[in-house]
Amino acid sequence: MASEIRVFNTMQQAKVPLQPVTPGKVGIYVCGPTVYSFVHIGNARTFTSFDTVVRYLRYRGFEVRYVRNYTDVDDKIIKAAKETGEDAIALAARFVREFEADAKQLRLLPPDVSPKVSETIPEIVGIIEKLIARGAAYQSGADVYFEVRKYEGYLKLSKRNLDDLIAGAGERELVGEQKRDPLDFALWKGAKPGEPSWPSPWGAGRPGWHIECSAMSAKYLGETFDLHGGGLDLIFPHHENEIAQSEAASGKTLCNCWMHGGFLDLEGAKMSKSLGNVVRLRDALERVDAEGLRYFFLSTHYRQQLAFSDKSLADAEARMEYFYETLKKVDERITGKDPSTPLGAGFGDGPLHGDPNRFLVEFDEQVSDDFNFPGGLGVLSGLFAELNLLTDKPPVKDKPMVGRTLVALREVARKLAGALGLFELPPTEWLLHRRDRQVIAKGLDRKKIDEMVAARDAARAAKNYPESDRLRAEAKTMGVELMDSPAGTTWKIAA
Ligand code: AMP
Ligand code: ZN
Repeated sequence: MASEIRVFNTMQQAKVPLQPVTPGKVGIYVCGPTVYSFVHIGNARTFTSFDTVVRYLRYRGFEVRYVRNYTDVDDKIIKAAKETGEDAIALAARFVREFEADAKQLRLLPPDVSPKVSETIPEIVGIIEKLIARGAAYQSGADVYFEVRKYEGYLKLSKRNLDDLIAGAGERELVGEQKRDPLDFALWKGAKPGEPSWPSPWGAGRPGWHIECSAMSAKYLGETFDLHGGGLDLIFPHHENEIAQSEAASGKTLCNCWMHGGFLDLEGAKMSKSLGNVVRLRDALERVDAEGLRYFFLSTHYRQQLAFSDKSLADAEARMEYFYETLKKVDERITGKDPSTPLGAGFGDGPLHGDPNRFLVEFDEQVSDDFNFPGGLGVLSGLFAELNLLTDKPPVKDKPMVGRTLVALREVARKLAGALGLFELPPTEWLLHRRDRQVIAKGLDRKKIDEMVAARDAARAAKNYPESDRLRAEAKTMGVELMDSPAGTTWKIAA
């Protein structure tokens, strides 16, 4: 029996069993990027967390419908467009393309639907009309506002207090807006010159921020769905307002479980465009491998805060190198490419410590508990320790059947990797990429290394062993280790 999946629900402040509206199917909505600039690794952390949630749910056999929107109409986009002199919609479209390129490089799963505000205007207008008809919203001039005090459940997600909010809102909120109450928020904003706008029953204008997610989630997942995700900063006001709008319009619960990811911090502060302490995802991916970055994200629980540093990235990539070195060794044994163990030799057979499938059971015990990916990585580490034990065992040449345990464990590794989005490249390819990055990072002369390798092959062919030893020693002083293999000299960065 697979472990029951339990998820921390911000609404209940407790872990609750995942009980999909339709058994066997999960609808998940993740608030996507506001496309006015390049995505940073704080955003990437949140998107990777939910990407892995989707992967794990699919691994567990759920049919998942994954929706992640693009906020392509927004104050920040309009401001950025004014600065560059570009059309706001065109600027947003450009950053959607940039986001897609970055997401592909990080190997995030493409969502099943990636709706945009600019393509959801009729549905947005429809909900606002419904809210006005129900007396939950009112028109004021060219704007439409949601009347917060009429909605009883306000602040049930964020557990805030209305009085504190009123004190915080103050006069500032009233300036330039025609609200009845400072707590009310805009559903529709009348058009201003130079801003994108669409026709509506209230004149030309554009939607407020929150209404888009109410419209898009209802359109693609229905009025009640299973999981809704985003970073912690979205709990208030964004998700609180989504709930108010959707539930006041439909009379139904918007979402059964609210998931919020912790922040990625840089030098003690939340990484954010407004603070300016950002590392762009594409810049990070020049320095670290996509799976190294994913490993770094997943090694801390998604709800906890995570501090970014160059060292933590380097450590994560070194760990990935260990995994890939192990897989390379295992694959060479299994396929018989390892010359010390001719195909058919008895090696890698066990069980050393029990049934290989126990790792699958342990993995589920960990990850089903509120997507505890760090726990899952711990199980993966145990599995790799065992793979190393098996491959380190000398081959037993007269055993007829080979490596059943090794083959079974390799299959377990493949399954777990799929659930986590790791080990998608052939080991040799990943290791060569890693070596190339290290050559650049350490400022080594690649041409010189290739020349030394060729010179050493020539020396060995001529049986000039003193010269071959001298070349090895010279390489070492450069930080490069030359190694012998039946196919000739190979090399790696010295440890
Ligand atoms: P934005 O493009 O600002 O709307 O953000 C997109 C997503 O990234 C939202 O779910 C945010 O909560 C999330 N996010 C923004 N900054 C961070 C951060 N420093 N750490 C983790 N998630 C973040
Ligand atoms: Zn949203």
